[in-house]
Amino acid sequence: MSLVGKNIDAFCSRCGFTLAHIVLYEVGGVVRGVKCKTCGAEHRYHGPTPEKRRLAPAVRRNGSGAAAPRLKAVHPADARQWEAKNAAMTPDAVVWDYKWTERYEKGDAIAHPRFGRGFIESVTTDDMEVLFREGRKRMAMNRPEIGP
Ligand SMILES: [Zn+2]
Repeated sequence: MSLVGKNIDAFCSRCGFTLAHIVLYEVGGVVRGVKCKTCGAEHRYHGPTPEKRRLAPAVRRNGSGAAAPRLKAVHPADARQWEAKNAAMTPDAVVWDYKWTERYEKGDAIAHPRFGRGFIESVTTDDMEVLFREGRKRMAMNRPEIGP
């Protein structure tokens, strides 16, 4: 069952507390992005408390490739599909800025600040499946405005 648009307790790094959040999107049925109902910040879902993260020593990435590669949900097949759709776009095609309060249709292209261009593959009344270059995500849409 999708939790997109539902309330969830999550740690907000801006507020510094575990607070009520709204689920913004999921990847493979796992909550990944949330919006703080207190300060309105959109960020990754870290779970209800950051304890585990504090126990692990911080590893600073220097970009040299020495650090372990970050696990990312990249599927070559998705990336190729995305490339094909992107290449097929006409120069005058509309790309909408993603806002979760807007309503989108299947076939629309959106621009997401973090994930870049996405192609909407299916929609329900308040969420949608979007193909981004790094993979598919279930994104909220057509939701009431919250936060500042
Ligand atoms: Zn907050």
